[in-house]
Amino acid sequence: MNHADPRSGPRARPRSDPSADPRAARLTARGVVRRYGGIAAVAGVDLSAPPGRITALIGPNGAGKSTLFDCLAGTARPDAGRVLLGGRDVTRLAAHARVRLGLARTFQQIAVFPTLSVADNVRIGAEQQRGRSRGRDVRAVEADTARALALLDLRGLAAQPAGDQPTGVLRLVELARALAGGPRVLLLDEPAAGLDTVQTSRLAAVLRGLADRGMALLLVEHDVDLVAELADTVYAMADGHVVASGPTASVLADPRVARAWGGAAPEAGDN
Ligand code: ATP
Repeated sequence: MNHADPRSGPRARPRSDPSADPRAARLTARGVVRRYGGIAAVAGVDLSAPPGRITALIGPNGAGKSTLFDCLAGTARPDAGRVLLGGRDVTRLAAHARVRLGLARTFQQIAVFPTLSVADNVRIGAEQQRGRSRGRDVRAVEADTARALALLDLRGLAAQPAGDQPTGVLRLVELARALAGGPRVLLLDEPAAGLDTVQTSRLAAVLRGLADRGMALLLVEHDVDLVAELADTVYAMADGHVVASGPTASVLADPRVARAWGGAAPEAGDN
């Protein structure tokens, strides 16, 4: 694995000021509401994922995390509120238009093309960003694909069919595909699901390295140990609302957060 920075943990600060990067962008939700029938799955959420930081979204099943993610990514349209990417209002933009502006995501359900090779799956992410028609872009797509494969240590599997790979590898393929487009903001829906402890710590190091280079990362994650290790800031949701937000340690220790899980923090008895 080509780790840019071996440090991990929420208190490791970026070496350079990410706000100095002209590509750096913040993703912001302001008063986002999304209803299904009479139910507000997201009931007026404010959230900010700044460049150079890892922000985590936690909460019990049905809290509204995935729905908020869909509103941020553009796969769901908010009924009220706004979504800003780098200060630009993208609330009315479709998901593919947001990708072009530097917003990438991975999905809870792994979505690779099984008959395509690992490299071809990753190339799709680069093509979405660059387009595929012009010669200059073809070379750029190849360079972006190679860089993403190297970052996730997937070069040795590049020619293999994706469908032959285990879940742990497919999570990395999905992440490589998202990174191939050179995003400024990365949304990750349960990136550690199905990974073993070695793969999870490799993933954590990669994500920390991306944040240290100025990317804004927002992840939905049920693994509280990983959130505690990785996130700078946590938003805890329950019943469509943010019930607590702030520095990771204080949110995980907040009694309102424990209450949202029925008295015990999820999956980590000591958090
Ligand atoms: P999980 O951790 O289980 O993924 P979540 O926090 O992501 O849960 P959501 O999936 O956003 O929660 O669901 C929030 C609420 O919205 C739930 O009550 C859910 O049943 C409802 N909901 C989500 N998507 C839809 C939909 N397409 N149609 C109707 N109701 C929906």
